[in-house]
Amino acid sequence: MQKELVEKLQRACPQAWSDLGADPAVSNMAFGVVIGVGWHELLLNLSVMIQIELNSHPEPRFKFTAVKEKFGLLNITHKGSTNDSIYEMIDAAQDESVIVCEYCSSREEVQIRDLGGEILQTMCEWCWAECQLPLP
Ligand SMILES: [Zn+2]
Repeated sequence: MQKELVEKLQRACPQAWSDLGADPAVSNMAFGVVIGVGWHELLLNLSVMIQIELNSHPEPRFKFTAVKEKFGLLNITHKGSTNDSIYEMIDAAQDESVIVCEYCSSREEVQIRDLGGEILQTMCEWCWAECQLPLP
């Protein structure tokens, strides 16, 4: 995901994203946000909602520990929260990723596609068709 999009996420909820760029020995967030831009809005909305929750119920140790794609879906791991609302928000964002194209954010004709080699991606019909074109 491009730097400026990642910076928007960090501005929306600095605490959640505080491990971005950390030492790889310390956090998987060292490798950045390794997902398609289609899920940026999902993550931005999630970050905004978490920040609102943290404003009223601070949890100083909460942060994301990995944000990635797993089995074709958005996968977020985190630590430091005992707040059920935050757990529910994260679960909802992960569940929503199944209907949002990871590449273009379309919500039409979206399914989990099997790219072969055990690679699964949530993609709309159009992005899937692009994927199927023979290499030039
Ligand atoms: Zn798409």
